[in-house]
Amino acid sequence: MNDHHQSRRKFLYNLGLAGLSIPIISANAKCNDETSNKQIMKQKQEGKLGIALVGLGGYANGQLAPALQQTEHCYLAGIVTGTPSKAIAWKEKYNLPEKNIYNYENYDSIKDNPDIDVIYIVLPNNMHAEYTIRGAKAGKHIICEKPMAITVADCDRMIAACKEAGKQLSIGYRLHFDPYNLEMKRLGQQKIYGEIKKISSGFSFVAQKGIWRLDKKMAGGGPLMDLGIYCMQGIMYTTGMEPVAVTAQTFPISDPEKFIAVEETLAWQMEMPNGLIAECRTSYSESSNFLKAEAEKGWFELQPAFNYSGLKGNTSNGAMDFPKLSQQAKQMDAFALSIKNKQQSIVPGEMGRRDVKIIEAIYQAMKTGKRVML
Ligand code: NAD
Repeated sequence: MNDHHQSRRKFLYNLGLAGLSIPIISANAKCNDETSNKQIMKQKQEGKLGIALVGLGGYANGQLAPALQQTEHCYLAGIVTGTPSKAIAWKEKYNLPEKNIYNYENYDSIKDNPDIDVIYIVLPNNMHAEYTIRGAKAGKHIICEKPMAITVADCDRMIAACKEAGKQLSIGYRLHFDPYNLEMKRLGQQKIYGEIKKISSGFSFVAQKGIWRLDKKMAGGGPLMDLGIYCMQGIMYTTGMEPVAVTAQTFPISDPEKFIAVEETLAWQMEMPNGLIAECRTSYSESSNFLKAEAEKGWFELQPAFNYSGLKGNTSNGAMDFPKLSQQAKQMDAFALSIKNKQQSIVPGEMGRRDVKIIEAIYQAMKTGKRVML
């Protein structure tokens, strides 16, 4: 027996509990589980849907789990993680019952768990398709993070799997629930300042060396997949149009060791059906975050445009001012209501697929230097 065991035995012996050590520990765990099961039962009785987060990285930990403490129509019911220490920490922090904690091997058995209605995929991009399809086969509704997948073919398989299972599929496009971005949509689509004559967007940050986002196999591409997708989205919801053709240009790589397989900086243009040409730029070695429109009778813009909070909006008529809220809480509540009301999500799998199709066209334009029709 080692020192640790001896002193522990001595301690329990002093309490007269040496022989009872194991039952005491499991009784505690059982008691905690009973409390968390009761909590879940209460949420279910209130008509809320249970969400399980798959992949407990930066976004799940920093944004989604905290947002699930603010939601009205759904709650954090479970987790799927490959890291045992995260399972212990999350169980404790969010009071989760043991039976709602899964790993990547027993993930499919989530089908037998009635506490979980929705699975939220927050894994690296190349894992989105597999975990969405397995989740749908387990009979759960799915929210999948952006970009929906790394190929259009994967998007098709994901949409088909959810259709076959009779389950809804939604993409983590949180800005469709953000008041500043919704104001851009209103001003643009309702032509409050007349026709848009010029529109541009940029989203860039400096990426650290060695992260999966720089690995083409895992990320599917570079900043276009990760950040540029917000520019594409912003242009489309502000104009209410989808591009008919794209052109694209890359620039010499500044750090060849860092950018082995993915683009470092990319500029691209989206030609809209009415002839408007949207100018976009994304980079992993610059800093930008804006969405700007100039129309016949005025201008409107966001800068920063795509953050989780602290967005700033301005127009030729003055500043925008909206109350603070959690974009992610709004997004997840809206999906829970879509499921309950049997209405399609406003950010469905089809929208995710549309965007991956545009991304593929932009990459083709980048590689060939040619204008690519959509
Ligand atoms: P992250 O690297 O912080 O987390 C990824 C998680 O996946 C980690 O918990 C990691 O352990 C897990 N994982 C499982 N298998 C893995 C593997 N083989 N390799 C690497 N990691 C593995 O990433 P993140 O920033 O949380 O991003 C996850 C997803 O969420 C991405 O698709 C990203 O685009 C998306 N995201 C969306 C937003 C948004 O605002 N909607 C913000 C950030 C990230």
